[in-house]
Amino acid sequence: MPTDPDTGYDPSLGRKFVFVTGGVMSGLGKGITAASTGRLLANAGFDVTAVKIDPYLNVDAGTMNPYEHGEVYVLKDGGEVDLDLGNYERFLGVDMTSDHNVTTGKTYQHVIENERAGEYLGKTVQIIPHVTDDIKRRIREAAEGTDVCIVEIGGTVGDIESMPFLEALRQFSHEEADEDVLFTHVTLVPYSKNGEQKTKPTQHSVKELRSIGLQPDILVGRCADRLDLEVKEKIALFCDVPTEAVFSNPDVEDVYHVPLMVEDEGLDEYVMSRLDIAEEALPKPERSTRWRDLVTRDRDEEIDVALVGKYALEDAYMSIHEALKHAGIHTETEVNVLWVDADEMAEEHEERLSEADGIVVPGGFGSRGTDGKIEAIRYARRNDVPFLGLCLGFQLAVVEHARNVLGLEDAHSAELDPETSDPVIDLLPEQYETEDMGGTMRLGAHETAIEPDTLAADIYEDDSCTERHRHRYEVNPEYIDRLESNHLRFSGRAENRMEILEREDHPFFFGTQYHPEFRSRPDRASPPFVAFVRKVLEETHEKTDETSADEEVTA
Ligand code: GLN
Repeated sequence: MPTDPDTGYDPSLGRKFVFVTGGVMSGLGKGITAASTGRLLANAGFDVTAVKIDPYLNVDAGTMNPYEHGEVYVLKDGGEVDLDLGNYERFLGVDMTSDHNVTTGKTYQHVIENERAGEYLGKTVQIIPHVTDDIKRRIREAAEGTDVCIVEIGGTVGDIESMPFLEALRQFSHEEADEDVLFTHVTLVPYSKNGEQKTKPTQHSVKELRSIGLQPDILVGRCADRLDLEVKEKIALFCDVPTEAVFSNPDVEDVYHVPLMVEDEGLDEYVMSRLDIAEEALPKPERSTRWRDLVTRDRDEEIDVALVGKYALEDAYMSIHEALKHAGIHTETEVNVLWVDADEMAEEHEERLSEADGIVVPGGFGSRGTDGKIEAIRYARRNDVPFLGLCLGFQLAVVEHARNVLGLEDAHSAELDPETSDPVIDLLPEQYETEDMGGTMRLGAHETAIEPDTLAADIYEDDSCTERHRHRYEVNPEYIDRLESNHLRFSGRAENRMEILEREDHPFFFGTQYHPEFRSRPDRASPPFVAFVRKVLEETHEKTDETSADEEVTA
């Protein structure tokens, strides 16, 4: 096991696991609590990884609708996973693989394939032990090579779907002498009408957990405020844990502050003492300062960026919001995101867009909202507004150029209009042969070669970049020469695939076929996002200078 040179973690201490379950209702921020626990352990010097368990039957999140489940996050290895994995990568600063997202679909598929291959010949194949064994194997394999593994179980205790997973965790905790396991349960502590913090939902949820043989070691109460001491004592009494094992997770403005909140209540010390690793940790004052300094950095400037999409749900574009925030941390700027519904933009779009200092058009699938997105791109191009187009946003910038600059009025993406006479965006050649929809796009990290002396080269300060992809369509090679006229240039390519576009007649017009947002981290903001925010800042400064000059003249 790799040990941290600072802490000298002793492998004989064994592997440590923190299992995080949720009660009362979903959407409590269980993932953030789990990621924050991981962050505190990483701050203390340990190698931390995470596993997200999703009890649905989909094999992966790739076939799910962002409106129900939030964005599909893409990993380096091309895994299309739950957005919580994005939180883990951002909080822990590590790259994960699809093996870190365990779903019912994956597990059952594997067990059934084994059964067909004759692996269990003569046996009755059952949830216990065959499915539960497969779950435990997956957790142990994902934890390989690290000190601590945080395992979050999606859904709420009591759901039929999560039963096999909870049973697997119950078995897991008794199996190996060199493994330490801790159960954290996250519940809701609502306020009553007369302003009292109510513990009954927590009590019921713990009762439910116990009925399947699990006793939590730590309870975290999600509440608008910190839990009062009497409330903690009451939870401790009814749920059979010491009062020091009850923590609050109050509402915060920025999720990156959650580790600070739970650290203030001593979650790190408590977890480490229960996992028998307190002695190995870095000394307290050295530990948390880097993260604290980073996420509490002053942001003196403020800008407004329009995000022109089709899902009025922040989670559907989570990584873009985060990447803008990281660029904000990097440039000490508060980036406000103005939501613009591409589907409803129609007439008053100019007014809506004119409130923004920059425009982002994100990725997407299907035709709803594309006219509005094309309008927004046209507005950005003609009014010299800084523009960032991501994946579908890149493809539609090509369509907009073909239509409005080159005069190919009918130009479109074959995805959105299969009958178009000018399919400037078309299926990738290999896609003509695939019929399956799951996991068959061009996925994951691929290298792009960057042309020197371009905006792209300035942004990346390099002659190549490796970013994550998720698309089925791309620029049609037959149109490249024609498209590269009238100031549009493809400045990044992967052989004959067009990866980056920029306009030479515009202060900042940048599009990428890939998704730079998935590699962005609080302490390693994505270069295109930083460059975009910088340009917006520069332009707003210029505007303010002009206005004050005008005022002086009129005065
Ligand atoms: N729908 C487009 C494609 O499949 C863009 C995908 C995306 O924006 N992620 O190529």
